Amino acid sequence: MAKKQFKTESKRILDLMINSIYTHREIFLRELISNASDASDKLYFTAMKEGNTGLNREDLPIHIGVDKENRVLTISDHGCGMKREELENNLGVIARSGTLNFKKDNDLGEDIDVIGQFGVGFYAAFMVSKKVTVQSRAYGSDEAWQWQSTGADGYTIEPCEKAENGTDIILEIKDDEGEEHYGEFLEQYRLAAIVKKYSDYVRYPIQMEMESTRMKEGSETETETVVETSTLNSMVPIWRRAKGEVTDEDYNNFYKEKFMDFEDPLSVVSHAVEGAVTYQALLFIPKAVPFNYYSRDFEKGLQLYSNGVMIMDKCPDLLPDAFSFVRGLVDSSDLSLNISRETLQHDRQLRAIANNVKKKIKSELQKLLKNDREKYELFFKNFGRQLKVGVYTNYGAEKEFLQDLLLFHSLAGDKLIALQEYVDAMPEGQKYIYYACGTDINRVAQLPQMERVRDAGYDVLCMTEDIDEFAVRMMRDFAGKEFKSISDNDLGLDSQEDQEKAEQQAAEYKALFEDMQKALEGKVKQVKLSSRLKSHPVCLSSDGPLSLEMEKVLNAMPT
Ligand code: ADP
Ligand code: MG
Repeated sequence: MAKKQFKTESKRILDLMINSIYTHREIFLRELISNASDASDKLYFTAMKEGNTGLNREDLPIHIGVDKENRVLTISDHGCGMKREELENNLGVIARSGTLNFKKDNDLGEDIDVIGQFGVGFYAAFMVSKKVTVQSRAYGSDEAWQWQSTGADGYTIEPCEKAENGTDIILEIKDDEGEEHYGEFLEQYRLAAIVKKYSDYVRYPIQMEMESTRMKEGSETETETVVETSTLNSMVPIWRRAKGEVTDEDYNNFYKEKFMDFEDPLSVVSHAVEGAVTYQALLFIPKAVPFNYYSRDFEKGLQLYSNGVMIMDKCPDLLPDAFSFVRGLVDSSDLSLNISRETLQHDRQLRAIANNVKKKIKSELQKLLKNDREKYELFFKNFGRQLKVGVYTNYGAEKEFLQDLLLFHSLAGDKLIALQEYVDAMPEGQKYIYYACGTDINRVAQLPQMERVRDAGYDVLCMTEDIDEFAVRMMRDFAGKEFKSISDNDLGLDSQEDQEKAEQQAAEYKALFEDMQKALEGKVKQVKLSSRLKSHPVCLSSDGPLSLEMEKVLNAMPT
């Protein structure tokens, strides 16, 4: 029988896919299963339209058959199937890909999800198969057709026998060669793990015969090996279940299993949006800092699903840096399975989702701050630093967004307070939000400059972390009140009269200060009269916008 030729463009894509790409080979299974699921959906809806409402999803299992000896893997569905022309049109013409030339000329990065790049899911089968046979019988048709291909050199179509509607994808798995092992795709446990990883929430049961060993009935010593058909996927994802149906414990267990934490999360946010963009999100704030969180190895991101099928394990574009500690997932039917990392970044839907997610996290944190202070302080102890880094690194762009979430030590109550709380407690006449920097609160409290501010009845925020002052400088003000360091030359406490008096005194004792300065030559830049002191005779301060603490941090930085 004459072989039909693939379109040239297709031939090149196929060639490239089969021969040059060896990362993420396992996703061929995800692609074939999602096709089977799509086909089952189509059948399900056709049946519903025809008034056949008795059909259940359980009646349409997707089956994985393994014949290890002959190295054959079969994925079968009871879906809509394909007519002859559909086989030709759907499997004979590969989507033209604009990214092809670009990708061909460039080295493909390790972590690039290549199938996604081309949007040609079915052909992923050739990454692991030397021959692919598709036997299909369309729903309502009484004939079945077989499509067969060994790769880029074309395909054949001929009639075949098939008792029921649906499609069997029969893969002849490639031989192991040197470093290249394909045998793993014939191992039940490996296949089960791949299904679990990518296709856990496909809404049809994915079944496979699994061997297991158990005690022989009636015996306490003898074991027997049994083969049972087991369903590999959990089907209904927890985030799609009605909220009232899911307990806190369900969420906690899901979190611990999925994100490999030993502890329950501090907080769970589940939210669903329908409208211009439709998605479900399930987010968790961890209780403890992940071990590598403050290291370079840490990767932020949420899992991304398209209709229950995982498309990315860590999608960084869904989380702002300030909230990089959040774990969780987003599932949206608006995203295509074949979307690539590059296009994701520019995807409008994704950006809209990311924006909502960000707001949702903030409102959850604000809720905690308001209703469960203890929990919030625990959170802040762990991740507050990241929020401050967020304020600092975004050049203030995020400051409005993040500043409500910050806590600082305060002298008045010896406890952490929010900026709004500081402002609310300000006595009349206080113009600034005062802050002081130092390694610990006690030392900060004893700074000579502190006295006058406290005498005026003003509270002072204590900045004990190196990042604090950087963040505060970036914020500049809060609720219309400027931040003022107590080591600032002018604390804004003096009246016109005070100032004039100070100037007078400075002139009067000019010679004395000059002598002192000479005595301290090389150690200080200038000695001058200060109005900031009360009982202390002297204090050290910096000149210019940087505080002493900040200078220390900057000096300690590697250049
Ligand atoms: P996509 O799924 O993105 O459309 P694929 O390359 O995965 O692209 O599949 C191409 C087409 O082949 C599908 O759109 C579908 O029409 C058809 N197809 C693939 N697998 C099946 C199947 N198991 N049952 C019915 N049709 C299928
Ligand atoms: Mg597909």
